[in-house]
Amino acid sequence: MTYSPYRRISQFMVLGFMFFIPLLNSYEIYAITGTFYALNFGGLGVADPAVILQAIFAAGEVSITLLTAALFPVIVLMLFGRVWCGWCCPFLLLAEGADSLRGILGRKRLQWLFKPQVPVKNSLTANVTRYGFLTAGTALAGAMAVPLLNYVHTPGILSTEAMMLIKERAVSIEFGLLIVILALQMTIFPKMWCRLFCPTGAVSALFRTSVGLRVVCSAKQISGPCCRESFCLDVCPMGLAPYREAGNLLCVNCGKCIDACRTDRLAFRGFEIGRFPESAGSSR
Ligand code: SF4
Ligand code: SF4
Repeated sequence: MTYSPYRRISQFMVLGFMFFIPLLNSYEIYAITGTFYALNFGGLGVADPAVILQAIFAAGEVSITLLTAALFPVIVLMLFGRVWCGWCCPFLLLAEGADSLRGILGRKRLQWLFKPQVPVKNSLTANVTRYGFLTAGTALAGAMAVPLLNYVHTPGILSTEAMMLIKERAVSIEFGLLIVILALQMTIFPKMWCRLFCPTGAVSALFRTSVGLRVVCSAKQISGPCCRESFCLDVCPMGLAPYREAGNLLCVNCGKCIDACRTDRLAFRGFEIGRFPESAGSSR
């Protein structure tokens, strides 16, 4: 089974949903309201756990309403891992577009500008960076009583901009921030935002479980590439080496490495979802 077409459909459906909500609201239909910070489905609140964390620290108190809003996303994360990031997030869709463009432009004479390598190669250092960013932002949110990290919440900003575009035929200054991030990713800092900074990605990785959906590699040799071509290395949107790092907190279960692997050594495991080559045994 090839996952990429289904994943792309899912990403575009979520992108469409992002415009559908304000469109619905503009016709005074309020069955669904909100943005990708927090949504309301006929009175049922669902919010990004990273947004809830910010709200708790900024308000200095925990409320049942806030915790309840995080319940559904947390259950999904525990069962299916970071599928929001891998299969839904509109920012990742744009970032992958920027990645493809970088690949095309980098083939010309401007390799010095369109860098092929991720800026922080070591995944441990990348994780330390993003959890450091999350901790600092959350501590500052508590100290200043302002949910600071919401100002850099890329999927939330995108859906707010979609709402503004539908309702006011305009976009705000925050759209400029997204353009800057995407421009940096396309040129000197590939995969920068999701790998090193995004608070949503960092918080959601904390709910990863050992029994939920995950990618495993059946290769016996894990210190180096398990085939000469290493197709999986080129496609990972998080800059991982899937043959040895699919279990990393950075993995978003996108399945691109599984599709790219010509030897069927990579596979999804968990709840019997996906394909399972006989040899896919280890779950490191
Ligand atoms: S890490 Fe952040 S920006 Fe990247 S896919 Fe996840 S939510 Fe979207
Ligand atoms: S390791 Fe594979 S499933 Fe995980 S993010 Fe990279 S390409 Fe996607």
